[in-house]
Amino acid sequence: MSAIADNLQAVRIRIATAERLYGRPTGSVQLLAVSKTKPLADVLAARAAGQTAFGENYVQEGVEKCRTSAGQALEWHFIGPLQTNKTRPVAENFAWVHSIDRLKIAERLSAQRPPELPPLQVCVQVNVSGETSKSGCAPATARDLCHAVATLPSLRLRGLMAIPEPSDDFAAQRRPFRQLRELLEQLRAEGLPLDTLSMGMTHDLEAAIAEGATLVRIGTAIFGERNYA
Ligand SMILES: *Cc1c(COP(=O)(O)O)cnc(C)c1O
Repeated sequence: MSAIADNLQAVRIRIATAERLYGRPTGSVQLLAVSKTKPLADVLAARAAGQTAFGENYVQEGVEKCRTSAGQALEWHFIGPLQTNKTRPVAENFAWVHSIDRLKIAERLSAQRPPELPPLQVCVQVNVSGETSKSGCAPATARDLCHAVATLPSLRLRGLMAIPEPSDDFAAQRRPFRQLRELLEQLRAEGLPLDTLSMGMTHDLEAAIAEGATLVRIGTAIFGERNYA
């Protein structure tokens, strides 16, 4: 087995163990492999080990990987910050966008989604830890944004996403994830048919699963440390 196949297996075991420990149904947490900065060869090594859903943060790099892997039956998720002038290639190439943080972005993605493709699956990103430097909408505006996004014709609103501040304390890790889950429950009670909580990364996936994550976004534990040089 390749190192990536070994790493993937270890992550699958972490997810299954957390599902058992926190009373989550087996298989209820989907794994998104975050391949940003990593070559397509690494993506294909993970594909050979059974991984089909991949996440990318940067528009140019992500679109390039979408295009060069066409025909491999991969599902590409855009999870990074998105500017209005970069929405078109994302609308044309990705299956999911997790990082909707304002209506303008969602409106452009809906208008630019090619009609022959299925609706773009989207999550609204919420800044649950209240840190000013991080992206995501304020929790107080998330409700109105979700109701507006849900009406756009070429998008399908699936749920919420968050990237809380890193912490080594398990209880502190759980707090923002719980906040996101409670917000999702409120929106569901208001009639939005949401099924996705995109939360949890390499260092906090157990805390996210304990609080109801349905999709964890894992990079380092699968592909190793990223080299930005
Ligand atoms: C890079 C990134 C991840 C993966 O982080 P790791 O700590 O490497 O698992 C997940 N989500 C987002 C939005 C990211 O940018």
